[in-house]
This record gives sequence, structure tokens and C-alpha cells, in this order.
Amino acid sequence: MSVATEIQSITARQFETPAKFTQFCENGGQPLGGYINGEHVSGAMNASIDTVDPGSLEVLARVCEMGQEQVDAAAEAAHRAFLGNGVSGWRDFPMEERCELMMKLVELCERDRDVLLACEIRDGGKLSELAEGDFDQIRATAEYFCSIAPQLILGDSGHRAVAADTQGFTYREPWGVVAGIIPWNYPIVLTSWFMFPALLAGNCILIKPAEDTPLSALYIAKLAEEAGFPPGVINVLPGRGELTGQFIAENPLVRYISFTGSPGVGQHILRTCDRHGTRMKREMGGNGSAIVLDDADPAIVARKIGRHTNQHFGQTCCTIHRIFVDQKIADDFIDAQRDFFSGLKIGYQADAGTQLGAVINATQRSRILTAQQQATARGGQPLVEGGPAEVAGKEGYYIRPALYQTQPDVACNPDEVFHCFATICPVSSADQALQLANSSPYGLGASVWTKDTQRGIALAKQFRDGTAQVNCHNMIAYGLPYSGQGISGGPGAGVNCEETLTDYTQVKAVYVADYPG
Ligand code: NDP
Repeated sequence: MSVATEIQSITARQFETPAKFTQFCENGGQPLGGYINGEHVSGAMNASIDTVDPGSLEVLARVCEMGQEQVDAAAEAAHRAFLGNGVSGWRDFPMEERCELMMKLVELCERDRDVLLACEIRDGGKLSELAEGDFDQIRATAEYFCSIAPQLILGDSGHRAVAADTQGFTYREPWGVVAGIIPWNYPIVLTSWFMFPALLAGNCILIKPAEDTPLSALYIAKLAEEAGFPPGVINVLPGRGELTGQFIAENPLVRYISFTGSPGVGQHILRTCDRHGTRMKREMGGNGSAIVLDDADPAIVARKIGRHTNQHFGQTCCTIHRIFVDQKIADDFIDAQRDFFSGLKIGYQADAGTQLGAVINATQRSRILTAQQQATARGGQPLVEGGPAEVAGKEGYYIRPALYQTQPDVACNPDEVFHCFATICPVSSADQALQLANSSPYGLGASVWTKDTQRGIALAKQFRDGTAQVNCHNMIAYGLPYSGQGISGGPGAGVNCEETLTDYTQVKAVYVADYPG
């Protein structure tokens, strides 16, 4: 990808909201309900949440919050759909039929592409260029998992003798009811990454979208109904994490949770799961690093790295926040990086030309502004100042990008700051850069930039991260796992690989001895 294309990918095209999206949000004047057992239901708690466009603060829709009663009803419906109620359940559906339903759902998503793009752009605050790429992941994920799912061996392995009178075999089965807890930054991508493998492995699912971005999951539920998924196979439970999410984690019918979000919340849910014997996999935040070696062209690499400090305004889990550059090229690199950060066009996400839109909510805005102040207080030298920003005619949560120069003994950027926020630390050697990059409890994504590919690979292998890249960052390919080490993830293989599918199943050992006597 050329540098110009990289920049294009963070530059918005004009987006016009389709009438169908507005109609969906209006819902005939009623709040949008959750989707349980094939029905759209209001919450018994009578609570609703306004979901807003973060760039304009316009209320897009009112959404019912699902309480304990609805969570329990959804888990029971999913359990019944899994087992079958007198007729065959989802666990018995032939793989071919599961795949047909998935692909039918994909086609309906493509028919209503503009509505789902509006969910991503208006509800999620995303630029059109990125939203379009996210949308494409629906088909890509479904096709990848449908291509490998037929090889997934469910049921008995071959029997073998384990003693003179005893046979043994393993039995692989779906978990049953599986919940996906999804964050707000990539609703469509992460719903797809969860939903397709979990369903193909034979589970019935509960989707808990983030309270800031419930619309795409609710719209997908509507399309799943149209596609003909049996009631109870897919359920969507909007609401706050500490209520709806917590009820899901506490529900004993939920046997497995796939969580994507922040390490703190993931660890909290893990403790709840432990109390109930629920298994959990976690894909969590990072504090991404990039090492720039002395043979790199500072101007070109600064722009490439700039794109990965500002993908979705830095609200991407793999964002580069910590840059370690060889001191021989540091001055030129810093100048070029400063130019990139200062040149970002701040604006409304649906307006053509915007490169840096509003952050998702007021809490994030205040966290980011605090982190900017702390970076300076801890010894970071501001190169680009940060601070609040204003966009004419819009009331959104706008913030300027922030860039700091630092040095090896100054740790001014210890935690994930979900914005276009980075530090540049000149270093004397690649070893020093690696040691600093690895001195973080996070371990999601890192990259090394050099003309010497072999040297790059040797360094990449030493990152304490789930994904290590040479001359690229945050590349994703189906078949290669995307996962975190340290507090960024685990256990399991991560997403988007063959093991992702097997993570949605469990194995038991069965022993059969001859009848005694
Ligand atoms: P959070 O951890 O705050 O929330 C994630 C989800 O958990 C939301 O649906 C949230 O609901 C829910 N939740 C919150 N509290 C509970 C609870 N007690 N019980 C059950 N569920 C709960 O993350 P953010 O939404 O702020 O997302 C950003 C984070 O996600 C960043 O750290 C980012 O790096 C990470 N992430 C990681 C990815 C990866 O692949 N490794 C990919 C994308 C993001 P609610 O919204 O209502 O609070």
C-alpha cells in the first residue's frame, strides 16, 4: 500500500444517512427492544438508553435495557434452541445448513449495507473509509469459517483400547449457550468474529453489544430473523455492562463467554466466571509499540506509523502508542511525525475530508484529556499539545492529537490511552528499543520498521506480543491468529484461525469397559 493510500484510508468520504436507518431507529416511536427467542422485547426494568452520534450528540435511538429476567429468558431460549424442543436442535443441524443460513445472513447484510454503514458511522463515530473495510469483514469472516467448519470434527474420535477390557475415545461437542461481550470500537467486525465461529461450531448465542453502539447488533438480529435462523439461536441483549453484562456472566446456563474489551473489565468478568465454572476467552486492550531501525527512511515510516496511531482516531486495540526510534534518524523522524499529527484534519466523521473525528463518549474524552496531562507531568515533552478541540456547528467529543518526546528512563505512557496519542523515544540500539517495547504488561501488537527484513524478523520474534509485524502494523489475515499475550488476552488461540472454531467446543474423554462378570 502506498503512503498516499494509507492516508486515504483515514480520510472520510461524505456519508448521507439512509432513510431506512432512520426508520429503524425510530421504530414507530417505541424504544428498540432486545431480541430474544425470535421476538423483539422490552426490558422489565423499564430502563432505556439513548444511543447518540458522538460527533454531533444527536440522539439516534432509544434502546431498552435488558434486565435479569430478559437475560435469563434469553439463556433459556438459547439452551432450548441448542438441544431442540422435541425436534432437532441447533447442535444437530448439518454443517451445510448452518453455512447456508450464515451466507443468507451475509447476503441480507449486503442488501442493507448502507444501514449497517450508518450504524458504524453514526452510532460508532467511524469514518466511512474504515466503516466500509469493517463491513467487508462480515462476508470475509463467514466465508473463512464456512470453508474450515466442515473439517471440524464434532462427535467421537476413533475408539482405542486403553486396557485389556476397556476402550476409550474423545468426544468433541459445542459448549451450548455461548455469550459474546462486545466493545464499542468495532461493533460489526467483532460481532462477526464472535458470531460466525460460535454458531458454526453448534452453539446458540447471546450477543451483548456495548451500550454506546447497540444498533448494528440489533439490526443484524432483525436480518437473522429474516434469514430464517430458528428462534433462540441468536439473541441480542442491549444494556449496561455492569447490569446486563453482569447478569450474563452470572447465568449458569451460559457455559462460555467470548469477551473483547479492556483488561480491567475482562479480569472482573473472569472472576465472576470462575465462581460459576464458566469458561472465558479474552481479547483485550494493548499499548502498541513500533521500533524504527537506523536504516529506515524517517519520513516514509513516520507517515506509515502515523496511520496506525490514528486508525479510528487511536481507538483501535492495536494502535501504536509507543515509538522507539534509532537516535541516528530520530530528529528527522520526530519532525515528520510531528507534521503528520499536526496535519490531521479534525471534523465530523460523516463529512468529507475528516481524518480525526470525535471520541465515543464523555467518559473517554475526560480519560484522554487526563492522560495527556499526566504524560506531561511524568516528563513527556509535548511535540503536539493535545487538549480539547472544537468543530464548527457540532457538539461532539472532539480532542486534538497528542505527541510527546520521551527518553528511556521516562515512563510517561504506561496505560492504553484510546486516542491518537503517542510517545517517541530515541534509543541507542535495537536491543534497547526491544527491552523498552517489552517492558509493558500489555502484549497485543508490535512492529519493527527496517529495510533489512531478516533483521526485522529476528526482532519481531522477540516481541512479547500476540502479533508481531515487520514494515506493517495491525495486518489481519484469516488463518493467522489475532490474539494478545500478557494482560491483552488469553487463553485460547485468539480469533480468526482454525483453533478459534475449536475454542467454541469442548472435549471430553469417554471410557467404556466390558460389563463386569
Ligand atoms: P470495556 O471493557 O469497558 O467493555 C467491553 C464490554 O464489556 C462492553 O460491552 C461493556 O458494556 C461490557 N461490560 C462492562 N462491564 C461489564 C461487566 N461487569 N460484566 C459484563 N460485561 C461488562 O471496553 P470498551 O467498550 O471501552 O472497549 C475498548 C477496549 O476494548 C480497549 O481496551 C480495546 O483495546 C479493547 N479491544 C480489544 C480488542 C482485541 O481484539 N484485543 C479489539 C477491540 C477492542 P458497556 O459498554 O455497557 O460498558
